[in-house]
Amino acid sequence: GAGAGTLLEVSGISVSFDGFKAINNLSFNIGPAELRAVIGPNGAGKTTFMDIVTGKTRPDEGTVRWGENYTNLLKRNEAQIARAGIGRKFQRPTVFEDQSVTDNLMMALKAARSPWKVLFWRAGAKDDARVAEIAAQVGLADQLPRKAGELSHGQKQWLEIGMLLAQEPKLLLVDEPAAGMTLAEREATTALLVDLARTRAVVVVEHDMEFVRRLNCRVTVLHEGSVLAEGSLDHVTADKRVIEVYLGR
Ligand code: ADP
Repeated sequence: GAGAGTLLEVSGISVSFDGFKAINNLSFNIGPAELRAVIGPNGAGKTTFMDIVTGKTRPDEGTVRWGENYTNLLKRNEAQIARAGIGRKFQRPTVFEDQSVTDNLMMALKAARSPWKVLFWRAGAKDDARVAEIAAQVGLADQLPRKAGELSHGQKQWLEIGMLLAQEPKLLLVDEPAAGMTLAEREATTALLVDLARTRAVVVVEHDMEFVRRLNCRVTVLHEGSVLAEGSLDHVTADKRVIEVYLGR
């Protein structure tokens, strides 16, 4: 199996698009309750990496292994990978604007059930409690009756994270969570991500170095489809190769 304390083990993956190697022999491990920031310049391969982990893109080489049973995720499709416990939040929120926060979260709970169970599913007291619990976790406890369309940009992002939490993911991939947020929202988002990573793995793809600094976690620097450096933010930003990539040569 994967090493003790490893939830996801990505080993030696590569993928080419029309002969261009977007991911080049990339390896990446994350533990079950770990917060990790993935940074790198445009075109470094961050999106393609997440596409591979979520099964949207198949690598030409390498392995992607998951969990205690060392499951080969390359044999699973996107829906199966999501059900295995990998949730992904894209930058643009996709909440239902004309529905309340409660109904958005309830729909997410319903969607998290296996397809045949949905047929017999009725919202019960347990589901109401779970919706309240998720809303509190993402800072929306006092917003439950509001239409999602009336929420601030930051609140919409938190609602979408809440909708992902309905699926009880063991690994959450989050793309630029703080983009477009106010300072107060960014601080709340930092606290939320740190809190979530106490009980699950969270990978944050981020451009904003100030935000990465606040996350205060291990950082993986991607460049030309490979891991260029890994460690604390202070460690990687002191690396000459990282400085070259960010400041030009
Ligand atoms: P990042 O998210 O770090 O900006 P990407 O993963 O989007 O980087 O892209 C990595 C490289 O792969 C880029 O040079 C990009 O142009 C290329 N690329 C990504 N997806 C495709 C695709 N579907 N077809 C062709 N080239 C692609």
